[in-house]
Amino acid sequence: MNILVTGSAGFIGSNFVMEWLSENQGSVISFDKLTYAGNKLNLASCLSNSRHTFINGDICETEKLLKIFNDFRPIFVVNFAAESHVDRSILSPKLFFDTNVMGTLSLLEVCYKYFQNLSEENKNKFKILHISTDEVYGSLSKGDDPFTEEHRYEPNSPYSASKASSDHIARSYHATYSLPVLISNCSNNYGPYQHPEKLIPLTILNLISGKEVPVYGEGKQIRDWIFVKDNCEAQIKILKEGEVGQSYNVGGENEKENIEVVELICDILQNIKPEPSNKPYKDLISFVKDRPGHDYRYAIDNNKIKANLLWKPKESFESGLRKTVKWYLENGFWIKEILKQTK
Ligand code: NAD
Repeated sequence: MNILVTGSAGFIGSNFVMEWLSENQGSVISFDKLTYAGNKLNLASCLSNSRHTFINGDICETEKLLKIFNDFRPIFVVNFAAESHVDRSILSPKLFFDTNVMGTLSLLEVCYKYFQNLSEENKNKFKILHISTDEVYGSLSKGDDPFTEEHRYEPNSPYSASKASSDHIARSYHATYSLPVLISNCSNNYGPYQHPEKLIPLTILNLISGKEVPVYGEGKQIRDWIFVKDNCEAQIKILKEGEVGQSYNVGGENEKENIEVVELICDILQNIKPEPSNKPYKDLISFVKDRPGHDYRYAIDNNKIKANLLWKPKESFESGLRKTVKWYLENGFWIKEILKQTK
């Protein structure tokens, strides 16, 4: 059961590798370009594990990847590698299309070459899981039904457009070449090892350093939050038990306005680490000009994965957020190193 995980030094990829190693046999090859968002520190707990090997590389490097496939003979491939921050996609869209579109295409090309030379028995076992996002479906209004897998693709940011393109490529490799590809579209993740540029870690870190917390517009945008461990368990289920050619939506069943998320973090901190002068953390919230093209609401309908794969999220938003705040409070060294290496 050898598995190749791309983007393994990022937030979800590193959590996935840790989860996989603790629950499964076989070896893991971690493959990551180590952009500003990826860091070997995220994999520190498994770097000395004899079943885990880290290789620094770009999913666009087909020759290098093909050699890894041939040497290592994976049965599963999970693609987390991506540029993932919407704000950065607005500033530098091309990089997002290079990695998320052309990189996914390169990886699928390599998978297809490798797949063609597998024995019939291994062809039947081989699976590729392409990790995507709910943002490909566009934006919902308040009363709209949550996204099902049949919802039309209506991406609004360069990030979501690049992810939508990569999903279409993955789908076409199944339909055209019978490559055993599965796609998962998950909602906003949170938890340990998330880069400090994203909303939840940024809020925690700004609050504990007494800095203002910028909130876009009036903070009324709604996201459906999932604790990263729940998501990793879902991805493992999809990989092992999902039907090839299918896509699965994965959400935490926690729709929250951004302002509610920020205020809840303030409450948790007020409770476990009150500000020394007893000033309310909420005083640091500062509303800033909204992001262009900002989607109003994402919400996931989990019925397919619940019915077909018997998965459901375990963590409530409050319990997951409390664990997350505690993790950031206890991991000052990690925060310092990540910030030092971020351009
Ligand atoms: P992340 O930015 O934390 O990690 C991405 C990783 O990919 C980094 O380690 C980076 O070094 C690596 N990478 C970037 N370009 C690469 C390349 N060309 N070759 C090899 N590695 C490369 O992202 P994340 O939050 O862990 O997200 C992982 C995946 O899940 C992405 O595909 C993202 O679109 C998707 N997703 C994330 C969320 C979320 O809330 N974080 C939600 C839905 C979907």
